Amino acid sequence: MEIKSRSEIDPKYTWDLTRVFADDEAWEAEFTAIRTLTDDLSAYAGTLASGKTAVLAALKAAFDMMERFERLCVYAMMRQNEDASVTKYLAMNDRAGSLNATVMTAFSFLVPELLALPEGTLEAYEADPDFADYSAFLHDVIRKKPHTLSAEAEQMYAMAGDAMMTADNTSEMLRTLDLNLGTTRDEDGKQAPLTDATFVLFLTSMDRQVRRRAFNNMMTRYAAMGNTFAALYAGQVKVDMFCSRVRHFASSREASMFNEDVPESVYDSLIEAVHQGIGAMNAYLLILRAVVGVPKLHMYDLYCGNVADFEIKMDIEEAFQMFLKAVEPLGRDYVEDASRALNERWIDVYENKGKRSGAYSCGSSYGSTPYVLLNYKPNYDGVSTLCHEMGHAMHSYYSNKNQPFPKADYSIFVAEVASTTNEILLNEYLRREYRDSRQAQIGLIGNMLEHFRTTVFRQTLFAEFEMKAHQMAEAGESLTQELLSKTYYDLVKQYYGRVCVVDKSVASEWMRIPHFYSPFYVYKYATSFCAATALAQNILSGDPEKIAAYRRFLTLGSSMSPIEELKVAGVDLSTPEPVCKALDYFADLVLEYHGLLSNP
Ligand SMILES: [Zn+2]
Repeated sequence: MEIKSRSEIDPKYTWDLTRVFADDEAWEAEFTAIRTLTDDLSAYAGTLASGKTAVLAALKAAFDMMERFERLCVYAMMRQNEDASVTKYLAMNDRAGSLNATVMTAFSFLVPELLALPEGTLEAYEADPDFADYSAFLHDVIRKKPHTLSAEAEQMYAMAGDAMMTADNTSEMLRTLDLNLGTTRDEDGKQAPLTDATFVLFLTSMDRQVRRRAFNNMMTRYAAMGNTFAALYAGQVKVDMFCSRVRHFASSREASMFNEDVPESVYDSLIEAVHQGIGAMNAYLLILRAVVGVPKLHMYDLYCGNVADFEIKMDIEEAFQMFLKAVEPLGRDYVEDASRALNERWIDVYENKGKRSGAYSCGSSYGSTPYVLLNYKPNYDGVSTLCHEMGHAMHSYYSNKNQPFPKADYSIFVAEVASTTNEILLNEYLRREYRDSRQAQIGLIGNMLEHFRTTVFRQTLFAEFEMKAHQMAEAGESLTQELLSKTYYDLVKQYYGRVCVVDKSVASEWMRIPHFYSPFYVYKYATSFCAATALAQNILSGDPEKIAAYRRFLTLGSSMSPIEELKVAGVDLSTPEPVCKALDYFADLVLEYHGLLSNP
């Protein structure tokens, strides 16, 4: 099917960005105005010691500028995402990017001057109702004070930032451009190019030899560059160690998690609880082995098990109604608020030439409505993505509505909770709707089980790998290819080895994972998914108090620490309990799946 150009798309299904700026001229005028604002803000530098009124005035000026600048940026970004071939928007986006440096420079006097105020002053301001809008910001400045360096040292640290990206940049160049993955034999016995994209297809092939060859070829080609990948990753770990030591942290993990205000116990609790769930996952692998129909399950067999596909076909109007049905347990007003999204054109629905791929939600247009970009496909994945992105959008909608700008933007740690909760609500809704269809139940449960395996188990395995790598380096060991590959292999064996034959070749898989260059990031995929599972259970219990607690969470923005916000929602991730609860849900699904498959 020919992809349409943007002008051929029904405007009804494009987003209406005039709520952000009436037109491009209004954007231009604002661009000029913000340039002036940055000069105005600089005038506050050096005034903060004169007392409360001056500090309040400076904070107000700084955050007002940030709010307007953010709106400027998201408009340019969303316009560019509509069609990357429009050079006008490419230029606008570039100019917004350049203005960023000016804005940041204008802002940069603020924190050092606040920190230089007499002992106890910031604490008094944080508690002062006049500073209510800025209390979360002040709280963060106070919290980070012991890890903030002198102005001169901070400047040097910032100057090293670019060079510290070398391992990340180089590994990406190697993975995406320079590493030739060669070819592999396809189902017709012909040599076909092996790339990250074709790899996924080969792994879902029903021809086992195709899967086996693709997997082994992929791992062999990575292993051939193993010393280089090990040196790059060791380089990244050294950067993480440097950054944590300079800022007086005991470990890289502590530094990383401190930054987001998440206690390290969350990481340990996750691993501890997931280890207890390894048995349940292997019970699932046993079922998968039977579904795939092989005497021994290898790692390359894991992706072709969802044969019982459940397909629903629907246009965006029907999909949107299905979304509203799925979120009904959240309350009538949630449904009413969410139902505005399609009519008021918050959503850019269809693919067009030059449009950004994938999907996202953007809540950074404070004072306007959230926006959602989709490339809608009329199938289960399409509906699920709509529910996911609307989860983000409604979280932004309620946070923006209830919080002042400086407290509105929620943190990455909680970001995927509302989106995943909506996905689970959709899955549960469809399971109720199609309760009499065995095929639908198998498809829907199978989908959820794979989601669990790849999000909770696989990401926790990754989290454990990077934790061990950092610990070894911090203990003075040298991160060689041999050591890293052995560490990875042992983990795969621990997670999958009860049912799977774990071939030696899998030891190189860690080299393929780009996320390891964003240290201590992947555990958040697992914690978000577990929190969402526990919260979806709370919501579906129908208990009005539990639903109200979740709804309150959606309004919090970044007004509290992420862990406290999730406690408000009804999950305490500093204990293993929510992860255990999620894994109980997983174990129940495994049993149900087994029952369905063994009673045709
Ligand atoms: Zn998301």
